Amino acid sequence: MMIIENYTLASFTSHATPYYVISGGLPGPVFMVVSGIHGNETASIRAAKNIVNHLRQGELYIYRGTLIIVPLMNQKAYRKRIRGVPDLNRTFPRTRNGSAKHPLSVALLQLVRRYRPTWYLDLHEANGLSQRNPKRLGQSIIIKQGSQGTVTARRIIKDINRTIAKPSYHFNIRLRERPGSSRSAVSRIIGAKAFTVETCWSLDRDLRIRYQIDIVSRFLRSAGLMW
Ligand SMILES: [Zn+2]
Repeated sequence: MMIIENYTLASFTSHATPYYVISGGLPGPVFMVVSGIHGNETASIRAAKNIVNHLRQGELYIYRGTLIIVPLMNQKAYRKRIRGVPDLNRTFPRTRNGSAKHPLSVALLQLVRRYRPTWYLDLHEANGLSQRNPKRLGQSIIIKQGSQGTVTARRIIKDINRTIAKPSYHFNIRLRERPGSSRSAVSRIIGAKAFTVETCWSLDRDLRIRYQIDIVSRFLRSAGLMW
């Protein structure tokens, strides 16, 4: 039976924010989803909150492993609908033994070290369409070059693109490192298969939310947590 527990990240600080630990009845991998590291990327935040609601209402079901969701990391930035000052995604350790430079990145890394996820998804939004411009990140999944997760990311992109009628909205893979980001830190420190998911800001908001939920669901099925 699935169990949903809620906790607080960075509790007793002004950055306190909820997170959820969802346990499937059967043993399986640990999968972590983080959203709202940037406070103005509202579709990715809404998507993560909707996933929590769907789980609570039984519309999504985790039967194996453990899913940890932080739907809105940076509450202060979200209240102002800004990216965040400082940019939280540059405050994670840049080396294996380096230290995080913000109460939220410190707290998230503690959570990561405690649960040691095999899978890590960081949900974001970006400008531009990756299909139109190789330098743009909108509609992309970003992963470090040579990561074990590359095969999964490529397959998920291929599958989701089959459902997207407009070729310019298609997703693409981007291979890159971003020092100081949560993705780079989590992949370096615990060796997780770590991905950044980016929808394109200029698309309809409901569509972006749908893409984000679809991609997270496809990863969860791929990792064996969901049917
Ligand atoms: Zn972002």
